Amino acid sequence: MTVPSFAHYDLHAPGSRYALNTPALVLDLDAFERNVARMADIIGAHGKNLRPHAKSHKSPTIARAQIAAGAVGCCCATLDEAEVMAAAGIESILITSPVTTALKLDRLTALAGKAPDTMIVVDNPANAEALAARASAAGVRLNVIIDVELGFGRTGVTSPEAAVALGQTIKSLPSLAYQGLQAYGGHIQHTIDPDERLALCRQAHLKIDAVILALSAIDMKPGIVTGGGTGSHAIDAREGPFTEIQAGSYVFMDAEYETVIYESGKAWPFENALFVQTAVISTNVAGFVTTDAGTKAFALNGPAPRVISAGLETATYSYAGDEHGRLHLKNDAVRPVIGDVIECVVSHNDPTVALYGHYHCVRADRLVDLWDVSARR
Ligand code: PLP
Ligand code: MN
Repeated sequence: MTVPSFAHYDLHAPGSRYALNTPALVLDLDAFERNVARMADIIGAHGKNLRPHAKSHKSPTIARAQIAAGAVGCCCATLDEAEVMAAAGIESILITSPVTTALKLDRLTALAGKAPDTMIVVDNPANAEALAARASAAGVRLNVIIDVELGFGRTGVTSPEAAVALGQTIKSLPSLAYQGLQAYGGHIQHTIDPDERLALCRQAHLKIDAVILALSAIDMKPGIVTGGGTGSHAIDAREGPFTEIQAGSYVFMDAEYETVIYESGKAWPFENALFVQTAVISTNVAGFVTTDAGTKAFALNGPAPRVISAGLETATYSYAGDEHGRLHLKNDAVRPVIGDVIECVVSHNDPTVALYGHYHCVRADRLVDLWDVSARR
């Protein structure tokens, strides 16, 4: 463990969780480690592989912790993330969005030269041809995965026929090595009602089955079938056609996911592990106090951050500007004074993490480490 430098912290209480340079991103290592172990257990119990999505954490340190717990590698949403993970020595990387521009095709082939197990998704024959042309010019073979659209309308082939046409193109290109399918249902993950989520997963599984059947008929049965997220992981691992699960957010369990019902009557097996700490900077107006964490400190595409500080659990958070937040207090609440620090469960983890340079890693009330957020793009 590296010894943290406290140079930029409040030196009145060095080493305290509550003396950080606010707004600060705080990672509770005990909760994080339990989340990592629990997901590994759940997926392993179904005999499936876990390839956690690194878009959630953007940290090779966290990817390595997941691999140490049994994950087969990681997913990356961007080429930038993949370059960072590969440079940190992570060998098996799947890039889950297509790469299409000339600049990025060159970077991708360079990456594949250094990390030959890298895989890239493709959903279009023209893109397959462009990937193949750059790969053969660079003297590498690119591992490709056919991306299948499941109803979210983002990327992926939209029919078994389109999968077959793309498969035939891939087959005809010797610089591409076909590995299998990706099928990620982005519309399913945050479906609050568990029965509705189960029904959506089952519809998605039927679509994937049809693509597997069509590809098998042209001798392209997929070796890898990768997909699933935190919301669908249990259903996908139990009854889906997947060989591996791509869940990401489970490591942190943000305010957006905690509103989703896991299974009727059952609590989520994951705990909140990621928080933003903010300080009270003004208290002159009735009904609320003003903090130093606004729209630069929280991703906006999620629910409001949830306040967890003792005595303030009923308070609600809203944004009051780029560098200002508002903590709305119920009548009987203890009113914080200026300089008090409070913590909130992050709104939506992935884009919130991208707003920070590092994680302040804590165990109980002690700051024990700093981990870089090294893949922010
Ligand atoms: N796979 C893909 C392709 C994704 O885009 C995402 C998240 O956006 C995930 C997996 C991980 O999902 P979650 O963060 O819901 O676990
Ligand atoms: Mn997300």
